[in-house]
Amino acid sequence: MSYKAEYIWIDGTEPTPLLRSKTKILPDGKEPDIWGFDGSSTNQAEGASSDCVLQPACVVKDPIRGGDHKLVLCEVLHTDMTPHSTNTRAALREVYEKHKDQDPWFGIEQEYTLFKGARPLGFPESGGYPGPQGPYYCGAGADDIYGRPLVEAHMDACLAAGLLLSGINAEVMPGQWEFQIGPGNPLDVSDHLWIARWLMHRIGEDFGISATLDPKPARGDWNGAGAHTNFSTTAMREGYDPIIAACEALGNKVDEHIAGYGVGIEHRLTGAHETAPYDQFSYGISNRGASIRIPWQVGIEKKGYIEDRRPNANCDPYIVTRLITDTCCSALA
Ligand code: ADP
Ligand code: MN
Ligand code: MN
Ligand code: MN
Repeated sequence: MSYKAEYIWIDGTEPTPLLRSKTKILPDGKEPDIWGFDGSSTNQAEGASSDCVLQPACVVKDPIRGGDHKLVLCEVLHTDMTPHSTNTRAALREVYEKHKDQDPWFGIEQEYTLFKGARPLGFPESGGYPGPQGPYYCGAGADDIYGRPLVEAHMDACLAAGLLLSGINAEVMPGQWEFQIGPGNPLDVSDHLWIARWLMHRIGEDFGISATLDPKPARGDWNGAGAHTNFSTTAMREGYDPIIAACEALGNKVDEHIAGYGVGIEHRLTGAHETAPYDQFSYGISNRGASIRIPWQVGIEKKGYIEDRRPNANCDPYIVTRLITDTCCSALA
């Protein structure tokens, strides 16, 4: 007998890469091994030497096909087995290895927006706009909530795959939702987030609904879509001084972080819509208008984690978790 292994990888589309996948039939009991693809069709190679290598990195159950079928998230390599320039996971592996003794944990809140055709789900098909923001966040009822059957199917699929999913909620703009992955180490959380994104796109096919990670999917007085990134180390989970030291360290590397937090970030971090301006760093307890929020329980218990509210929905979690791990763990070492 055999099983289907869906090999998933991140392509070279600029400015924001796309997910690609294809299926390999493997004999029962055989682990997914290296495979290849045509990099000239994914912005990852020239036609004259088009072969790229897929190196399995994270294998989970395939919740769509069920049975023994698998999803195989891969790193992209050159044929000499060195990491491809689009492979941002390789650099995270090194940084995580260096700071593993501090046991960094992440929890990422992935916001996204469902679209039917050219309009966000819930925006009138005849054109124009729905009622202003207010009732949609964590709402109930057909007037305010759009796309829940897809969202529930996606949540069930993430759980069946064994992903570190910790919750979901409806967001501030109609058709906008969030799921959270974590807490876990930077590699697991980033791998699981990429797989969860792929599942959202794939399951959306069955509903005729597309999901976008566009950080500002509707112009005007509508919230953008972010990927708030929650972070802690052993020392931060045990005391308050390291929490403040991590915030200060992030404040010393603002430009480098903003540059790695997703394309179009200056359109989302305007200072309005629960954001801090991208060029002004701030942190504070309970403050959703700060770059970094210290959750209120953390302020009271004097230990826990911090929330970097800046990353865009379209960020690469391998880059975001690498930057935060490097900046904070280097300062706390
Ligand atoms: P918000 O109140 O900002 O909407 P959420 O409940 O959506 O927060 O997300 C909080 C995230 O923080 C979850 O993904 C959770 O797993 C993560 N988290 C909780 N504790 C920690 C911790 N100690 N370190 C890192 N992440 C954590
Ligand atoms: Mn949240
Ligand atoms: Mn949110
Ligand atoms: Mn948040």
